[in-house]
Amino acid sequence: MRLIPQNACKPGPGMLPGRGTFAHGVHPPQRKELSADAPIEIVPAPARVVLPLQQHVGGPCTPVVKPRQEVAFGELIGRGEAFVSAALHAPVGGVVQKPAVVTLPNGRHLQAIVIRTEGEQPGGQELWDRLFGGRWPGKAYQSMVPEKINEAIHNAGIVGLGGAAFPTHVKITPVGEKPIDTLVVNGCECEPYLTTDYRVMVEAPEAVVAGALLAGRAVGVRRTLIGIEDNKLEAVDALRRLAAGAGIRIAVLRTKYPQGSEKHLIKAVLDREVPLGGLPADIGVAITNVATMTAVARAVMRGIPLTHRVISVTGGGIVEPKNLLVPIGMAMGEIIEICGGLRKTAARIIAGGPMMGFAFTDPQTPVTKGTSGITVLTHEEVRRVEQSVCVRCGRCVDVCPMNLVPTRLAMASRAKDLGLARRYNIMACFECGSCAYICPAGLLLVQHIRTGKALLAAERSK
Ligand code: SF4
Ligand code: SF4
Repeated sequence: MRLIPQNACKPGPGMLPGRGTFAHGVHPPQRKELSADAPIEIVPAPARVVLPLQQHVGGPCTPVVKPRQEVAFGELIGRGEAFVSAALHAPVGGVVQKPAVVTLPNGRHLQAIVIRTEGEQPGGQELWDRLFGGRWPGKAYQSMVPEKINEAIHNAGIVGLGGAAFPTHVKITPVGEKPIDTLVVNGCECEPYLTTDYRVMVEAPEAVVAGALLAGRAVGVRRTLIGIEDNKLEAVDALRRLAAGAGIRIAVLRTKYPQGSEKHLIKAVLDREVPLGGLPADIGVAITNVATMTAVARAVMRGIPLTHRVISVTGGGIVEPKNLLVPIGMAMGEIIEICGGLRKTAARIIAGGPMMGFAFTDPQTPVTKGTSGITVLTHEEVRRVEQSVCVRCGRCVDVCPMNLVPTRLAMASRAKDLGLARRYNIMACFECGSCAYICPAGLLLVQHIRTGKALLAAERSK
């Protein structure tokens, strides 16, 4: 990865209105060099996959298969019945087993469909060509009916692959009469270590652009742009010519965490602010991730549902960091073994990146649609600060990109003072971890805030 000049996205006539950055945030060590140059490898189908029924924001899907039933690769196995839900498809052909209950790294216990793999499975170059390769006729999108694009995305069970896992058909459905004028495609991947989106942009730029054109057509925008941080020059190079030919702008942004958050990316490129408690649609913006765009392209143009995703397996504690195309539902322990296993120095295994990911210990934990990577940190990489008391330095306030007062939020949560937590806007916290990263007292600010948010959610559901 090479750097390009910080002022590459200067505002000015004919340029985007944003300043190419946002206020506050932090600069944790990137460590992307561990896996950035590792081309995506295609992992063969495992002996079984475990597929939780709720891998997305919204209602769980309803199984449409029974134990002992044979299923084909890509067949529908769970129907997303609520509007905010996502369908589930078989990432392997095989036989459905007894249902299981799995615990995801975020602590949620979920019902899951288990499939034992049987027979020959698509794999290798053939699978890559089917999902990412071949031609993506850019002009074809112009004649497509927006509702048909949305329907194909809905049927394919596509969710945001950047980690949030929000159903994509909902994101690109205009809300009421509010017009959406801009589609922002998020290629920031600001989370340290991870190189998933980076490799997708470098290795499948045609699919990214095709998906962006289709999503833009579905929403009816007049402008589409792709935001990429300035630590990913090769991705900018790979996309620039294709994007220009399709009328899509590339916005190069100064690297800073958490620029990949929707609100902060919109601020950086468009200088628009999503209102507190509001959505990007409220200010005329739809926003989605680059890898999600490849899933959109293959669903609409090839009728292929979401069965696989690219993940990074990285960190100083993994023997051979890689970027892998894996079937959803594969056990993370098996994936770690494909990367040579853990080093003796491995101290913590995280689903996702070190800032927003969740640590886990069970090697059977399955990859879900929202799993962007597995990061294995060494003892040295795990920042160990002896916990002490708050020294009122105010650094957590200085870095909070939502202008919150993290120390107060954490105190209110610990004291279970939900009224106070609400007054300090606890629900506006999106758990980016910047406050905990910077805190010299090593306080577990995010954990406390998360608990406070869970208590408030429980109170509301009574
Ligand atoms: S309070 Fe929330 S949004 Fe603010 S820095 Fe901490 S984790 Fe991020
Ligand atoms: S950064 Fe830590 S020590 Fe400083 S005010 Fe915030 S909570 Fe207190």
